[in-house]
Amino acid sequence: MKKYIIANWKMSGTSAGIADYIACLTKYLTNKRVENELTVIICAPHVYLSTLKDLTKELSISVGGQDCHTHTKGAFTGETSAEMLADIGCKYVLIGHSERRKYNGEDESILKNKVIMAQNAGLIPILCVGESLVEREQNATLEVLKRQISILDEVKGETLIAYEPDWAIGTGVTPKFNDIQTMCNTIASEYHKLTGKDAYILYGGSVNAENVLDFMQSEDVDGVLVGKASLLPESFGKIIEIGAQAN
Ligand code: PEP
Repeated sequence: MKKYIIANWKMSGTSAGIADYIACLTKYLTNKRVENELTVIICAPHVYLSTLKDLTKELSISVGGQDCHTHTKGAFTGETSAEMLADIGCKYVLIGHSERRKYNGEDESILKNKVIMAQNAGLIPILCVGESLVEREQNATLEVLKRQISILDEVKGETLIAYEPDWAIGTGVTPKFNDIQTMCNTIASEYHKLTGKDAYILYGGSVNAENVLDFMQSEDVDGVLVGKASLLPESFGKIIEIGAQAN
């Protein structure tokens, strides 16, 4: 069964640090399963994507952006289009991460445009969805997830959806494992109702080497999106190693 392990470096890294990181991570990629059944993706700050692409060209690592713009080009200072990400060799792009929803006011209409831009550029979108603590306490989780997933109605190719409850991101707290499995199942069936197709459903939120095995062994979870624990090559490498053995 195909599984994914995705690093989200957020706004971290230096050009020298990335070279050291990849040199160290290489020793964790020797397992045959990493090449065949496990897809490892690193979503890096956009200024470092070309460097990362060069450093990983002989390795079984794909590179992804952390966001893309709603337009292909034009007077949008500081922005990066999906076409530009594809042009430098990215295969994936994160869309709708909770930090972008929170700090950049990205709502469903903006995010739907981004998904379409990603698809038109030949990128595979990784849509991040998940409820806030308040929404969870108000029993609004399902309604929130349905709204967030609804923007995928025109997606044609491969799609990844990461269930990331925002109260689990960077907090060291994760939902109960059974709840995660149930939510991933629910997302899969909502997506299927919407499009008639299957998507890969991942979990993200305080994943680390101690808890990753359960996710990688679960039939309902197609992989993990890792923030903090992907910042050091040793901890991300350990997660890859465990993922490869579990697969
Ligand atoms: C994330 O930012 O997508 C994330 C899951 O972060 P962390 O692993 O640090 O909770």
